[in-house]
Amino acid sequence: MGLYLILLGVQGAGKGVQAAWIQQHYGIPHVSTGDLFRAMRTREDELAQRIQAIMASGQLISDEITNEVVRDRLSQPDAAGGAILDGFPRNEVQAAWLDDYLASKGEAVNAVLLMEIDLYVAFKRAYGRIASEDGARIYNLYYQNENIDWRLEEHPEGAWPPRVSGCERDTGMSLVRRPDDASADVVIRRIDTYLETSMPLVNWYRGRGLLRSVDAEQSIEDVSAAIQAVIETNRS
Ligand code: AMP
Repeated sequence: MGLYLILLGVQGAGKGVQAAWIQQHYGIPHVSTGDLFRAMRTREDELAQRIQAIMASGQLISDEITNEVVRDRLSQPDAAGGAILDGFPRNEVQAAWLDDYLASKGEAVNAVLLMEIDLYVAFKRAYGRIASEDGARIYNLYYQNENIDWRLEEHPEGAWPPRVSGCERDTGMSLVRRPDDASADVVIRRIDTYLETSMPLVNWYRGRGLLRSVDAEQSIEDVSAAIQAVIETNRS
């Protein structure tokens, strides 16, 4: 039997870091539908172009296309022993499809890991994220700020939000924020969307006895240990 895990959690909960850890520890690939769709950017066929247009408008891709992309990815040789699904399923239709698809292969979802963090912490993790200009090092204004000097700088015409201006202490290199992190409004909207779309799924999986909560505010190592404990008790 394979190992099929679903990661649920708001942006900033550390899904990427933990997916990388699971991948390394258990030898199953991290399958993120957002990454799969983004990777299609270089393709010129009609489906790929349609997907890019939908993503650019901020909407969801249809269930039919998404399920097909997941089916294709899960039938690759490296996913023969299972996968860590991230960003999928996004709704009950996709969840039901996944159940059927796995059942047709004699497989099933082992556990749904709900990575829980306080939403205010999630906000600060995203809004506070800032990188060295060359993108090589990531800091956080609130949590990892020993090597950075920063201040809020008012826009000359008083536009909102004020900009963060700063530099790395040891190199003097400027710091830059991703535009979608720099707007408090956008970060809050992202959190709202997460709550709206994930709650039905949380209930769906709780009803099936598959939901496992993980305290994602602990250190990275402690979160990995908690995930390992969940996996070990839910492997068949
Ligand atoms: P993400 O990186 O997970 O935020 O996904 C980026 C974009 O890819 C989303 O805004 C959607 O347009 C699309 N997408 C990713 N996963 C799904 C999914 N399971 N169902 C539909 N659309 C998706």
